[in-house]
Amino acid sequence: MEVLSRFTNQELNHKIQSTVREERRATVEVLRLLREIERRMVYAELGFPSLFAYCTVELGYSEAAASRRIEAMRAMRDVAEIEEKIESGELSLSTVAQARVAIRAHERETKVKVTAEQTKSVMLQLSGLSKRAAEKVLVRELPVTLSAQPIPERQLATGGTRVTLDLTEDEMAVIEDLRRLQSKTQSTKDLLLNLARKELARKKRERGEAPPIRESKQTTEAITPPAEEAGHFSAPVKRLAWQKAESQCEYMSPSGRRCEARHRLEFDHRKPLALGGESSSQNIRILCREHNVFQAVLKLGAPVMAPYLPRLSGS
Ligand SMILES: [Zn+2]
Repeated sequence: MEVLSRFTNQELNHKIQSTVREERRATVEVLRLLREIERRMVYAELGFPSLFAYCTVELGYSEAAASRRIEAMRAMRDVAEIEEKIESGELSLSTVAQARVAIRAHERETKVKVTAEQTKSVMLQLSGLSKRAAEKVLVRELPVTLSAQPIPERQLATGGTRVTLDLTEDEMAVIEDLRRLQSKTQSTKDLLLNLARKELARKKRERGEAPPIRESKQTTEAITPPAEEAGHFSAPVKRLAWQKAESQCEYMSPSGRRCEARHRLEFDHRKPLALGGESSSQNIRILCREHNVFQAVLKLGAPVMAPYLPRLSGS
């Protein structure tokens, strides 16, 4: 370790400049590694439900730093020229991530996919710009109306998330109207949360992830399927599996890490139907979306799955 206090001011300036260049080279190398880790689904094999979870838990990045890197990696995958712009310092990770968010918002609103050529043109225009100047270019090149703009979300020190909503007059009128018709007065936050909770419970019942509401004996019998249909798990089999798994993905990595996913869970046949597996309690397990895909990749091979999952292709 060099003793920095012995450096002249000029030497310090040179030293930090070359270290920053190394830092950018290392950043690009991290992005290349992430690309390969995503392509081979290494995070799934290790028991993580997403590349994002892998980046935050295994690599120790903050959530914001992980998102910036994942966005930049995907941008680099789509437009090869971005790599040298990041390495030269002309494009920062946050500008690239900002552009990707703007592209998605524009696509959602116009229902038209932004082509690789357009993406490249926008990214190159952002080279060397400050955050504010980049924002102006993005608004000009990829316009969206107020309601289609991404909702800003910020992680708080307390572990919560601050969500800032901009509503048009018409959108706010919907909320005001609902509030007027409800018997109890609720804040906008409580009102939205209650709606979300009701919808979540309904979806879970629909997917067999929660017991149905039993209003009377008759209706219960009416909604329970009489027998197991071929290829489908019956509701009681699903409920039992759900309880056994404690509403969590059951994937276990070779080193013994159980996946922590509790969302986007799916019922899976341990032994596939095609190989003679049955839709019974012994053959059911719960997997998150990523682990379901990962199992399919293991069974069928990446080349078969690649047309459905573009991230698996390339080298
Ligand atoms: Zn999982």
